[in-house]
Amino acid sequence: MKKNSNIRDRFPLLNVKVNSSQLIYFDNAATTQKPKEVIDEITKYYQEENSNIHRGVHHLSQISTNNFEECRIKVQEFLNAQFSHEIIFTKGTTDSINLVSTCFQDELQKGDEIIISEMEHHSNIVPWQICCKKTGANLRVVRIDDRGNLDIKHFKKLLSNKTKIVAITHISNSLGTINPIKEIIQLSHDKNAQVLIDGAQAAAHITVDVQDLNVDFYCFSAHKLFGPTGVGVLYGKEKILNSLPPYQGGGEMIEKVELSKSTYAPLPHKFEAGTPNIAGVIAFKKSISLIKEIGLQEISSHEDKLLKYATKKLLQIEGLEIIGTSERKSAIISFNIKGIHHYDLGVLLDKMGVAIRTGHHCTQPVMNRFSIPGTARISFAYYNTFEEIDSCIIAINKAKKMLL
Ligand SMILES: *Cc1c(COP(=O)(O)O)cnc(C)c1O
Repeated sequence: MKKNSNIRDRFPLLNVKVNSSQLIYFDNAATTQKPKEVIDEITKYYQEENSNIHRGVHHLSQISTNNFEECRIKVQEFLNAQFSHEIIFTKGTTDSINLVSTCFQDELQKGDEIIISEMEHHSNIVPWQICCKKTGANLRVVRIDDRGNLDIKHFKKLLSNKTKIVAITHISNSLGTINPIKEIIQLSHDKNAQVLIDGAQAAAHITVDVQDLNVDFYCFSAHKLFGPTGVGVLYGKEKILNSLPPYQGGGEMIEKVELSKSTYAPLPHKFEAGTPNIAGVIAFKKSISLIKEIGLQEISSHEDKLLKYATKKLLQIEGLEIIGTSERKSAIISFNIKGIHHYDLGVLLDKMGVAIRTGHHCTQPVMNRFSIPGTARISFAYYNTFEEIDSCIIAINKAKKMLL
């Protein structure tokens, strides 16, 4: 608690007023706030270092290239990847998944199968639907149970020698469920299928070790990890990345271009066509440093306490139901109150300075599974406090009185 009050001071937006109340920011699963050092680093880049990377021999270009590549090494360490060239910078999780699903089109044939789950974010559903349409592969979907757990028995049933790719989320952004991905990866490898894990909700909250997981692809977005928007990470095993065709063609990703044909640059540049979000990547280093400074252990432990406290308090509200009650849960709480539309609740909470998310959270199949149009969702980050939860509960009770 003392620790995190120091941290709060470093996030300028946590100290503003919204609708004349102190902001309570509980929409961290959509994006996290940014610490001052990340914001400052973006300014510093444009004021002192601005230049394109990898291409110039001049002083500024060397500085920005070094800073950019240093971030790659930071991410490599963060994920415990074997090589830094296994880290590809993308625009975000969505872009990382599209990269893999597009490059796999050459590898798939009619009748092959791709397995996803019912709890995926739309960005881990639609790219695979497009891929299936292009290749004639079939999409198989793992069911979830009433508590929001993956049905592992059903997964085992779906797995077969036809399975080529398994694409599953590490943590559900609408239910909070933490999936047993190590087991899923092992089971998939037993059938020679490759595994992509959508880590958008995991990387900022729990330790990810790609070598220990033995995962083939792991994706996440910097903006959900105190970093800038427009920066994402795709980790891929060296051997697999080398075997895939390039994603996009253009500058930076080539070795030699003739008008009739080109040869491609080695990893990671083969998958990084065009000028990337240089300022964003450089500033992202600062968010990883912040996470290291606090420690993922401390982050998980504090967020878990917030989750337990808020869950207990919320369940004391009459008519409130939580959707997603897995035993292994991240600090995300989706709920509905009997007789109240989630959207109306969200609007009234906003009037009292409390920012939550309402709707389907880009997981319409989850809403269909539970036969609801949407939920109100609270999601925590390390900088959130027990006092904020108390204020939020008071605000929910006020809103309830107004709406019922
Ligand atoms: C946010 C999120 C995404 C999409 O991330 P973008 O940064 O919008 O590309 C994908 N999957 C999950 C689980 C998410 O929470």
